[in-house]
Amino acid sequence: MTYEKERNKIIETCLKLQKAGYFPGTWGNVSIRCGDVIIITPSRICYNIMKPEDLTIIDIDGKVTEGIHPPSSEKEVHRQIYQNREDIYAIVHAHTPYAMAASAMEIEAVPCLVEEMSQLLGGSIPVTQVYVPAKEHARLGEAAAAAIGNKNGVLLKNHGPVSCGRDIEEAVLTAEIIEKVCQIYLSVSRPDRFCPIPEPFISSERNRYLYQYGKENT
Ligand code: 13P
Ligand code: ZN
Repeated sequence: MTYEKERNKIIETCLKLQKAGYFPGTWGNVSIRCGDVIIITPSRICYNIMKPEDLTIIDIDGKVTEGIHPPSSEKEVHRQIYQNREDIYAIVHAHTPYAMAASAMEIEAVPCLVEEMSQLLGGSIPVTQVYVPAKEHARLGEAAAAAIGNKNGVLLKNHGPVSCGRDIEEAVLTAEIIEKVCQIYLSVSRPDRFCPIPEPFISSERNRYLYQYGKENT
């Protein structure tokens, strides 16, 4: 079997996120990009019974090259983000309550309110602007890939969060931060009282996180 390590890592991640309440039922999906291929969870298979051979392999054009099940119905979200972003190697789409609630608000983005957002997400979290029905996979992918820009997370309108990372651990951490900041955002009742991090600090915090964090002596 190909990509054994990545398949096992995806299953381990799904079970962890299911336990944490991020994946009710069979909602949610996970992928890892490895060279020219994307290893992705199959559509509508219970995480409790998912085995390494149940995962699907697609190429960057979306063609299934390995697997007995159809790939996640949100494969286009994953694929189109990978296609636009060479820096991303893992993606998690979750169904968590605060991020889903924020995805239903009339906002363009969840503002960059706290440090973790500037460092991990690269600033605010964009929200796609129109609801795209579940069956319109390609349109959902287009909307997500366009809205995410150079950020590491996006909220699909009236649906839920998509988080990205340089590896699966970072994509999971980003999912956790998205859920936490959406909780903070929703708990603040007067949007005019928000004080986002000043713009120049968003990129400097991001750069520090990427290149200096953990390497500084002071
Ligand atoms: P899949 O089971 O097809 O990955 O769909 C899960 C989901 O999140 C639907 O919105
Ligand atoms: Zn979903």
